[in-house]
Amino acid sequence: MNSIIDYRSDAVTLATFEMRQAMANAEVGDDFAGEDPTVNRLEKMSASLFNKEAAMFVISGTMANQIAIMATVHLGDEVLVGEESHIYNLENGGLAALSGVQARPLKSYDGMFDLNDIKRAVEFRGIESSSVKVLCLENTYDLNRGIPLTETYISSVSDTAHKYDMMVYLDGARIFNAAAALNEKPSVLCKGVDVMQFSLCKGLSAPVGCMLLGSKKFIERAKVIRHRIGGAMAQAGHMAAAGIVALETMVDRIQDDHLNAKRLAVELTKFNEGLVDVEKTLTNIVQINPNCVGKDAFYLDNALQEYGVKVKVVDSTTCRLVTHYGINVNDIDHTIYAIKSILS
Ligand SMILES: *Cc1c(COP(=O)(O)O)cnc(C)c1O
Repeated sequence: MNSIIDYRSDAVTLATFEMRQAMANAEVGDDFAGEDPTVNRLEKMSASLFNKEAAMFVISGTMANQIAIMATVHLGDEVLVGEESHIYNLENGGLAALSGVQARPLKSYDGMFDLNDIKRAVEFRGIESSSVKVLCLENTYDLNRGIPLTETYISSVSDTAHKYDMMVYLDGARIFNAAAALNEKPSVLCKGVDVMQFSLCKGLSAPVGCMLLGSKKFIERAKVIRHRIGGAMAQAGHMAAAGIVALETMVDRIQDDHLNAKRLAVELTKFNEGLVDVEKTLTNIVQINPNCVGKDAFYLDNALQEYGVKVKVVDSTTCRLVTHYGINVNDIDHTIYAIKSILS
């Protein structure tokens, strides 16, 4: 095996040949004025795929998450977030820095919040309490585990949040993984949420980009905020063109990433039962715990590099491997061979 097999993230995926061609040939205009036909087409496609009124193209998932909150809150409001969520852990304190809000982390149980915890978090505590404006969901949940959350669960937490006048925001960076794992239509899966985003550049392999979706009124407001923070782009159609190809050609193949992850998990379990939890390997993320053979994750990470395999160390017990378009079945088999050799 000559080339590196990179499992560190599905963000490492490269644009396909068809995407590069579409980017070169894109019909473009001034997106500041809403006159880029390719951006407009991508926004329309995205909104309709999720059955939301409107969509906005942004450069990254982080920007989409932050704009969604900035467009909704006032200083000192509170937002409920998952303890393991991206918006809470991996956006450089953006909620505090950009929106001046207080994030209240909720525990999750297999990725799900307890409805009573939500109710407790919004209970009126007297004149000192802050006003809780947003419930933030993420699907798949927890980028170290990739747990797919069902429509039933999302609808039930959304109903609860709506009772307390909260907006329900979904970070759906990997929503197509959730939809594939649950064999559910994306629009059905997300019908309970008010505002959401999905990534074009993770499992779908576009070079950059993310779509923020919501009501027409919300997206109008989001466009003002995007402009304020310098996220408006002139001929963004060159990038949107890759996003269109991503939606047209990359959604159905996500199943392959899940099969590859499962293959890796199953084979490693045959080698040693303690290495992987197969039952919980439901999307494109595999967690390996080498402690069961007396090794730690740093050791496994280092040793794998000799075999041309890159992984992410979550902590001393866990390596995370994310499967994606850049990884095929031969890569999986090489990785199984490498791990068995290292841990034998
Ligand atoms: C990657 C990711 C983001 C951020 O997306 P960027 O495009 O890297 O800014 C947000 N949420 C989740 C769940 C992610 O996996």
